[in-house]
Amino acid sequence: MVSALCDVCKIRPASIYQPHTGRKLCRECFIKDIRSRIINEINKWKMIDPGDNILLGLSGGKDSYVLLEVLSEIYKPSRLFAVSIVEGIPRYNREEDINRMKIFAKDRGVDVIVTSIREYVGHSLYEIVERALKRGVGVSPCTYCGILRRRILNFYARIYGASKVATAHNLDDEAQTAVVNILRGDYVGLLRLHPLAPPASKKLVRRIKPLRKIYEWETTTYTYIKGFGFQETECMFISMMPTLRARVREALYELEWKKPGSLLRIIETLDMLLENEAKRLTTGILKNCRICGEPTSPKRKLCKLCELLREAGILEAVYQVPHLRVRSFYSEEEI
Ligand code: SF4
Ligand code: ZN
Ligand code: ZN
Repeated sequence: MVSALCDVCKIRPASIYQPHTGRKLCRECFIKDIRSRIINEINKWKMIDPGDNILLGLSGGKDSYVLLEVLSEIYKPSRLFAVSIVEGIPRYNREEDINRMKIFAKDRGVDVIVTSIREYVGHSLYEIVERALKRGVGVSPCTYCGILRRRILNFYARIYGASKVATAHNLDDEAQTAVVNILRGDYVGLLRLHPLAPPASKKLVRRIKPLRKIYEWETTTYTYIKGFGFQETECMFISMMPTLRARVREALYELEWKKPGSLLRIIETLDMLLENEAKRLTTGILKNCRICGEPTSPKRKLCKLCELLREAGILEAVYQVPHLRVRSFYSEEEI
């Protein structure tokens, strides 16, 4: 129970303790702090240029609401549009959650396109996971989900001419990804996380993450203070076949609990260390996947998505999707 005055305004009673700064804040100063840290991060890395058309990837969770609210306040809403992807997971991302998000966006002058994994590859995430499990494929549902969502956002950004894709990844997500890259020895992956790193291919629209220095507990608190009704249902796949990321998440939470500010220092240190190297990365070093035509590593014939779908035994279904079918020049035997 916090009963002192706010450390910032020194007028209103403090109701939120911010462990990484050691400050006690009132609700108003807390909201201002989050907003100004997001704006500082955008400005620091020049994430947004005046003429940008920005696609917002909105999941309907708390982070999405913060991203949408702050971006529509500081940037022209007419230059923003959003894509919300229905993964196709029972009891998750329901129609009412999507509708609530759409109304929230519309009130701020932002249109939302609702699409689904099924629309893109002909199967819902649940069906893909079910097929993969039947074939004994030991791939986590989150791996399929993450790759598909990234692909779909990029696809919409390209067809609608967006110059940036803004996602609502928070500091917890960003620190987990950085540590996973380090543990895998993926130096280029780590560099590509840097806000100044260019996309690896001209087919990939530049991604920006304005919330990358905001803790997840902070976006949750922000949305509660503002009274936004966001999706709170947990995905049924969250603890199934834990990925390396899930293990890293646990370890980092423990570290942050014992030493507040750890996640922030990980990202700030990497930002400094990798800045020069990240700026020197080049675009256009990828090859095109022989099935879908999307970028893939120069050493591979297929992109990771086509490879995963093939392992799950549903690559033939991909051929049914019109925008992919036109690029499928090779039969499975030839690949
Ligand atoms: Fe997708 Fe995994 Fe998140 Fe579920 S928990 S929505 S499968 S990334
Ligand atoms: Zn205050
Ligand atoms: Zn492919």
